[in-house]
Amino acid sequence: MSNENFQASWGQNLNNKEVRCQLCPRECLLKEGQRGFCFVRQNIDGNLILTTYGRSSGFCIDPIEKKPLYHFYPGSPILSFGTAGCNLGCLFCQNWNISKSKEFDRLTEQATPKQIAEAAKKRHCPSVAFTYNDPVIFTEYAIDVAKECHNLGVKTVAVTAGYINPKPRKKFFEHIDAANVDLKAFSENFYEKFCLGHLDPVLDTLKYIKNETKIWLEITTLIIPSKNDSDEELDEMTSWIAKELGTDVPIHFSAFHPSFKILDISATPKETLTKARAIALKNGLRYVYTGNVNDDEGSSTYCPNCKKMIIQRFGYTLVESHIKNKKCIFCNTEVAGYFTKEMKNQ
Ligand code: SF4
Repeated sequence: MSNENFQASWGQNLNNKEVRCQLCPRECLLKEGQRGFCFVRQNIDGNLILTTYGRSSGFCIDPIEKKPLYHFYPGSPILSFGTAGCNLGCLFCQNWNISKSKEFDRLTEQATPKQIAEAAKKRHCPSVAFTYNDPVIFTEYAIDVAKECHNLGVKTVAVTAGYINPKPRKKFFEHIDAANVDLKAFSENFYEKFCLGHLDPVLDTLKYIKNETKIWLEITTLIIPSKNDSDEELDEMTSWIAKELGTDVPIHFSAFHPSFKILDISATPKETLTKARAIALKNGLRYVYTGNVNDDEGSSTYCPNCKKMIIQRFGYTLVESHIKNKKCIFCNTEVAGYFTKEMKNQ
């Protein structure tokens, strides 16, 4: 059942019916009636309420590659949904009609956690994705959906910017099987100016996921010309990933298209993404991809040992796979990720 007055967690009750939301690093202080930066958590009569519990902006069955996740059951369909609002304020948001929506009419579909899990199962989706907007702000709903999914053997995927405080982070990610985390840039200045947030909490989330959980992790960086595409920044970012997270974490360099409040910068040229990919490979990352452009090389997976193509993709479609029992069929090297037992010429 949908519940527009769902009592949220991580609210600290203060004097005069004020509440502090401690879910994300913003720690919004809310007077009675006020909504947080994310717009969906509200102080109603001195209680912190999650106004979007059980309400979705729509459902879609996508290829899992679209999340993007390239090493988590490649080629499988995933039931995707989101709600409204976001706790970052990216000026270049590519989903701003959902993330910045103040129109709850958008949340047309009411769905209980059980209904979502059953819908995934019925439609033969091995996983459900919390996506379209950041699940951090609807953590309580996402956790309940994840529990129902796990009851039915359905896996859960979070597509997130990782902007969350340590305690709720632990609670949220306990229920997640795979995550794609947006690392929007590798400078505090960029996060402050273009996302209205901070870099360090995101780096902490990445380290937490990789080093303290069994969650499968991939990273996406939207490359914006002249803003986060310098050789130095890309070098620093990918060296940090290799050192702190390991060389098996896949990274996707994705093309920006003018959107929301950044309309005066052209779309990212393919050459810039190819350059970013080359820098990451030079720094030892083994699985580096380009996205949002036509790029056969950048969208395929290569064996880190024999360098042969082991998964060929066309756009988001998996064309051919040469992985068997998690190993490259040409040289028997293990490939990082989760794969169905047999993956050959799908
Ligand atoms: S989750 Fe929303 S209400 Fe809570 S601190 Fe973050 S932006 Fe503010």
